[in-house]
Amino acid sequence: MMKGSKKAWTLETITDDHKALYYIISRFSSPSREAQKVDIWLKELPLRVFVFEGIVDKIFVHYDYSPASVELPDGRRYLNISQEAEDDIADLRELGVISCLKLSTTTYITVNAYRVNQHEPPFAIPEGTKAAIDKLVRCPSCGTLLDTDLVPDPDDEENLILIHCKKEGCDFKRYSAITKIEDVSYETSPYLPDIPFYKGQDEHEWREE
Ligand SMILES: [Zn+2]
Repeated sequence: MMKGSKKAWTLETITDDHKALYYIISRFSSPSREAQKVDIWLKELPLRVFVFEGIVDKIFVHYDYSPASVELPDGRRYLNISQEAEDDIADLRELGVISCLKLSTTTYITVNAYRVNQHEPPFAIPEGTKAAIDKLVRCPSCGTLLDTDLVPDPDDEENLILIHCKKEGCDFKRYSAITKIEDVSYETSPYLPDIPFYKGQDEHEWREE
């Protein structure tokens, strides 16, 4: 179904990147418990933010990111999205270790949310990976799990997604660079450039390139 994701992964053969991705989801989601009767789900936007931040922190070995247009409550924006992470989410779903829920928002956008299916991970996760991700998703001041919100910065339009501490009285916050698009080539890509190099060459010849 998914391009480039034909490999049939098993719990024994999945990569450390799959495990790191699973561990992020497990920090923010859980199936219901006896004491807590509801499932807790992680929306895809905070997941994408922490995956991007994890790539920047070199937690993910084989992930890269590129600008992709994403529908947000206040309109479409380019975000630095990892296609490898999107493929690995599909793999984890196929393995039955995470579930996906489609949520309709008040602005009629459909967003995915994810949840681990068990309270304990069904595979061993390297301790170094866990430590690196706990550092990534927890407040450096007080250790509380971090949250993300759309908070447009009036002074810098590239700042939109604020990573912040949820604990009352703790004011840790910083903008994610997921909205800082380094390369703007996508803006010109739909147009066929007039390249002098081709002048004098047979048109048919270079079209086959
Ligand atoms: Zn804090």
